[in-house]
Amino acid sequence: MAKLYILKEGEPGLRKTCRPVTDINLRTKRLLDDMVETMRKADGVGLAAPQVGVLRRIVVIEVEEGNVLELINPEIIEASGEQTGTEGCLSVPGKQGIVTRPSYVKVKALNRQGEEVIYEGTDLLARCFCHELDHLDGTLYVDKAKKMLYPDKDGYYDYDEDED
Ligand code: ZN
Repeated sequence: MAKLYILKEGEPGLRKTCRPVTDINLRTKRLLDDMVETMRKADGVGLAAPQVGVLRRIVVIEVEEGNVLELINPEIIEASGEQTGTEGCLSVPGKQGIVTRPSYVKVKALNRQGEEVIYEGTDLLARCFCHELDHLDGTLYVDKAKKMLYPDKDGYYDYDEDED
């Protein structure tokens, strides 16, 4: 496995629409392994293929430690509710933003065996599904943030959940 370079905001690869995966082969599996390693080493909870320069519809998520979700050609098939909270991105280091997302999301995708899988997520996982799937269409959370947060000199982000 190898740790991959993560593109940063401003690099054009992050703004492209990714193509579906048509053939899940050894390269796809190697990419999934490398994406998981890259996400973990960067302390992220999700990573989309365009963030490592691959314009294919592939996402990995690990909101719950040890429970890695690998999504190939994912689609949101159901979403409801609303949550507003902070969000960050490995491609936008040193910043956070306040983003409103659905509080419940159901996703359909293929796993690395090419089988259809369905995942449901609430709270952070629902947010993560939305955030990562947005990457596949060239959208970054900063496009949707109603407010951006910058860390103070001690590295803390000042956000009062109740303030709106
Ligand atoms: Zn991101």
